[in-house]
Amino acid sequence: MLFDTHCHVHFNAYKDDMDDVIKRTLKKGVFMITVGTQKDTSKNGLLVSEKHDGLWASVGLHPNHLVAQSFFDDDELPPEKQTTNKIKTRTEDFDYEYFRKLAQHPKCVAIGECGLDFYRIPEEANKDEVIEKQYEVVRQHFDLATEMNLPIIIHCRDGYDEQADLVFEYTKEGKLQAGGVVHCFSGNLEQANKFIDLGLYISFTGTITFPARKKDVLIDGLTEIQNVVKNIPLEKILIETDSPYLTPLPYRGKRNEPGYVEFVAQKVAYLKNLSVEHVAKQTTLNAKKLFKL
Ligand SMILES: [Zn+2]
Ligand SMILES: [Zn+2]
Repeated sequence: MLFDTHCHVHFNAYKDDMDDVIKRTLKKGVFMITVGTQKDTSKNGLLVSEKHDGLWASVGLHPNHLVAQSFFDDDELPPEKQTTNKIKTRTEDFDYEYFRKLAQHPKCVAIGECGLDFYRIPEEANKDEVIEKQYEVVRQHFDLATEMNLPIIIHCRDGYDEQADLVFEYTKEGKLQAGGVVHCFSGNLEQANKFIDLGLYISFTGTITFPARKKDVLIDGLTEIQNVVKNIPLEKILIETDSPYLTPLPYRGKRNEPGYVEFVAQKVAYLKNLSVEHVAKQTTLNAKKLFKL
């Protein structure tokens, strides 16, 4: 039994074979949460989740959709539906009531993905304005998660300290009681421990299977992210694929799919010197506990 706690199996990348992918994943004994990133993909994820036992969904607005971006993601929505990108001046705002309504769906298990992403801010954008907008939208997600008593799925890049400060601000007021997860973690050990101290889980993707790049500074022969896996408690770890992105070894370069979460589990087991069965069992338990399943 494995749990891919963060995939996008309802995205356009699977438009030709979505049901096959979901069925073979479930047949392998892998549960899934398919994660929303915009209004459209949040709603569609819930519709897909209605059709399958063992598949749940989350609803939210990804920080990359707050600004008119110069990149297109055909894997996410087909080109004709990419209104956020097509009309360069229009960006998607967080529609609290719209998401609040979706969040009442029985298969909605979390709010997100949302968060601070200082890495992917388009060059032509006003950086301060974008960051201010990101803060505003994260706060709206945190308020909704608090109101609905649902866990939060955080997407963060290059802003982990600021993101942790924001979580702290909420938890000290008794908010975000349902906890949450920092997905596709790419920070350092100190930052991981900050989130764990705030009661959150840390989730890892196929990036933990990747070999070191030339610029990486190794820690006892491990990349920084592998060192984080090694040093945080298994009881605080979730595993995921973030399909269709970030395909783990040995399939790196091909389209990712939720069943490949087994390679993430194998790498966690290797790094922590535990059996794969033990890692599978504990991370599935962690996921069930967080998402109340
Ligand atoms: Zn993400
Ligand atoms: Zn994602």
